[in-house]
Amino acid sequence: MDKICATCAHFRRHYIKMGRRYDPIHSGHCVYPRGKLRYEETPACKHYKEKTGS
Ligand code: SF4
Repeated sequence: MDKICATCAHFRRHYIKMGRRYDPIHSGHCVYPRGKLRYEETPACKHYKEKTGS
């Protein structure tokens, strides 16, 4: 499977507030090497780092 931002340790997913809970959405931002908007399906860049743990 091709690597994408969603499985990268540098990806931070965004959430929307739905009443009293927060639901995950398909977009987020990347924190490395600097903040930028990304989507979970964005193809990985050269800074990709496999997410580990939960
Ligand atoms: S842009 Fe690169 S470093 Fe950032 S989340 Fe995507 S793959 Fe990871």
